Parts: sequence; structure tokens; C-alpha cells
Amino acid sequence: MGYIGKCPYCENGIINYETKKVQGKNAKVYTCSNASWKTEDGEMFELTPESSCNFRIWGNSLLKWGKRGIGPNEVRDLLAKKDVIVRLFSYKTKTEYFKYICLDHEYGVSVIWDIEVKPTNEQ
Ligand SMILES: [Zn+2]
Repeated sequence: MGYIGKCPYCENGIINYETKKVQGKNAKVYTCSNASWKTEDGEMFELTPESSCNFRIWGNSLLKWGKRGIGPNEVRDLLAKKDVIVRLFSYKTKTEYFKYICLDHEYGVSVIWDIEVKPTNEQ
């Protein structure tokens, strides 16, 4: 477990992360202390009825866009409402590109597709 910060969705929740095995690979999952989850096959989480918050981000949720993992610092910045730019990779054109991501109640994080991002040296 690692501490990330205060939950943006509820009053007193704390976001921590832990590492789970998903399809044989380690993936981080970031969840709120007011959410309790059950998992059956190690892949899908379901909220239990006593949960009062549904915050969760799967570290591998941008995998299909070529981003291997969402790191604790990126989640920390999202919680702090900072701009978070990620490097993505198009398997179709074999090129990398950059996009902002934001918190998303349903998916954890989503990519903001309609804003162009110029690559910076920090990436
Ligand atoms: Zn919460």
C-alpha cells in the first residue's frame, strides 16, 4: 500500500495504491479508503454494498493507447488538479504522441482527445 492523497470524490477518503496481478502482470490499482472492493478473478473489481465511494484507477487502464502504467506521481498530480500529460503510442502509425488525462468517475482516468499537446522535454 502506498499513500497518494485525499480522495477528490468524498469527504474523508484517502487514496492508496496496491499492486495486483492482472493477466499475469503486475498492475497498480488506486482506490479510496471509503470503497471496499471484492475481486473474484483478480481482474474485475466490484464495489461492496457498504462502500460509500467509487474512486478507483487501474494503473494499466491506458494500456491500449500504449501507456504501460499510470504512476503514483501522475495520480498525485491528478488529485492536485494539475495538468497531467502522458506519452501515448499509436500502434497503427508507430508514433508516440502526448495527451492530457483527467479523472473520470466511470473509467478512473480518461484521455482528453480534443486538446493538442506539444511534446516537452520533461516527458
Ligand atoms: Zn473517496
